[in-house]
Amino acid sequence: MKPHGPIPPGFRADADGMLLVGGDRVGTLADAAGDTPLFVYDSAMLTARVAEWRAAMPAEVQLHYAMKANPYPPLLAYMAGLVDGFDVASGGELKAALGCGMAAEHISFAGPGKRDRELEAAISAGATLNLESAGEADRALSIAAHLGLTPRLAVRVNPDFDLKGSGMKMGGGAKPFGVDAAEVPTLVRRLIDAGADWRGFHIFAGSQALDAVAIAETQAQTVALAARLGGEIGVTPPLVNLGGGMGVPYFPGDKPVDAVAVGEALAATLAARDPILADSRFAMELGRWLVAEAGVYLTRIVDRKISHGETFLVTDGGLHHQLAASGNFGTVIRRNYPIAVAGQFGVEPTETVSVVGCLCTPLDRLGDQVALPRAGVGDLIAIFQAGAYGASASPAAFLGQGPAGEMLV
Ligand SMILES: *Cc1c(COP(=O)(O)O)cnc(C)c1O
Repeated sequence: MKPHGPIPPGFRADADGMLLVGGDRVGTLADAAGDTPLFVYDSAMLTARVAEWRAAMPAEVQLHYAMKANPYPPLLAYMAGLVDGFDVASGGELKAALGCGMAAEHISFAGPGKRDRELEAAISAGATLNLESAGEADRALSIAAHLGLTPRLAVRVNPDFDLKGSGMKMGGGAKPFGVDAAEVPTLVRRLIDAGADWRGFHIFAGSQALDAVAIAETQAQTVALAARLGGEIGVTPPLVNLGGGMGVPYFPGDKPVDAVAVGEALAATLAARDPILADSRFAMELGRWLVAEAGVYLTRIVDRKISHGETFLVTDGGLHHQLAASGNFGTVIRRNYPIAVAGQFGVEPTETVSVVGCLCTPLDRLGDQVALPRAGVGDLIAIFQAGAYGASASPAAFLGQGPAGEMLV
C-alpha cells in the first residue's frame, strides 16, 4: 500500500456517504452533466479562499489571479469578481480575460515568446506587458509607435535568487524568463525615455512552495531587489508584482502554507521598505493556491480486474485530463494525489487497488496501490486538488479521448 495525498478540508459526504461539492451530491452532478469524466469547481470555496488571502495579507497588497491555472470561462468570470487583476500568459488568455469583463488596466501579460500580434493586442487593449527581454521591449515600442499609442510596460526581472523548496524554479541563474537584474536599469530608462507608461517590476521566483518562511524570505529579497533597481533608475516603480509561489498540499506529508505567517512577514517587510518604494503599490499573483482545492475530478470505473494478484480499477478518465495527478507534469517521483471513492467518502478502506485511466500507456495511473473502500464498475472515483492545471494542462487529444466536462457549482 502507498499513501495518498491529504483530502482538502471542507469536503463532506451526504448521509449515505456520497461526496458533496457545493452542497450537491457528485453523483447527481455527474448525471446532470450527462457524462464522465467531469471537473466540478465549487464557487463557495473560491470565495472562501480569496477571503482567507485578504484576511491574511496586508491591505495594501493586491491579489492577481494567474489564469493559466484554470481558464474555464465560468470560473474566470467568477474570479473576475473576486480578485484585483488577472495575469495572462498568451494572446488567447488575454482575449479570455477581456471577454469575461476584466478591465485591461488590471491585466498584465507575461510570458516568453510573445508574438507581434500578441504585443499589438495587449497594447491596443491597454493591458500591461511584462517584458521578458530587451528585444521584446524594442518590438513593443515600435508596435506602439506604429499604433500611435502609449504602451503600458513593466519589466519582468530575472532575480538573482530563487524560491527555496519550490516545485518549479522560475528565477535565479540562466532562465528564459525575464531580464537579468543587472540589465534592468538600462532597459527601464530606455522605456521611460521612449515615452512609455512604465508600470514597474514583475519578479516571480518560483511556484508550489509550502514553506511560509521560504516564501517570506523570497518576498523580502524581492522587495529589496525592487528598491535597489528603483534606486539605480531613480524612479519609483508604480507597481511591484511580488510573484506568488504559495502552493497546495498534493502529496502525503504535505502541509498547507501558513498564509497568516506569510502575511505577517510581508507586512513587516513592507513597513520597513526603502523610501523609494514608499508610493509603490504591491501585488501577488497566485494560480493554484486560489483554485486547486475548489476542484474535484470525477471519473467512472469501467472495469475491475486482477492481474498477478494486483487489483486494477480501470476508469473512463486519465492523464489526458490529469497529467499532474498521473505524475507526468513536473514531478520526479510519482506519488499519489488525494483520491477517494466518491460514493463512500470517509468510509474506511478495505483493499489496496491501483486506479488507472483508459489510455493505452503504463503512464496512465491516477492512484498507485492506494487503500480504498471496495468499489466496482459504475462507481465514481474522485481526485482532489483538481481545480488547477487539470483540464487545460493535460493532453486531452491524446488517443482521441477528448476533453472532460467542466462545471462550476
Ligand atoms: C504559472 C505562473 C503563476 C502561477 O503559478 P501557481 O503555482 O499556479 O500559483 C504565476 N505567475 C507566473 C509568472 C507564472 O508563470
